[in-house]
Amino acid sequence: MKRAEYEAKATAFRALLNEIASRPQNEQDWPDFPDWLSVPGTSTCTTPTCVVFGQPFRVTLHENADGIFRGMCGQCGNPITPVPDLED
Ligand SMILES: [Zn+2]
Repeated sequence: MKRAEYEAKATAFRALLNEIASRPQNEQDWPDFPDWLSVPGTSTCTTPTCVVFGQPFRVTLHENADGIFRGMCGQCGNPITPVPDLED
């Protein structure tokens, strides 16, 4: 997917998430998981002592209201900053 195309979708989706979050808790009707905006990405552990250090893994990234993708290494548990696979 093109970066600009995803960013347009993500901007709208983040606005929806923030709008839902601003409602009273009993009126917060979050999107179902299959409807949650996601994009393929790559996660690579950057902890030098980890057995999978530097090995890229394909992951599915789910959009967050703050627009930041977060991940965790499945081997060492350290946080990873995943990168969405988008074309410029
Ligand atoms: Zn690791």
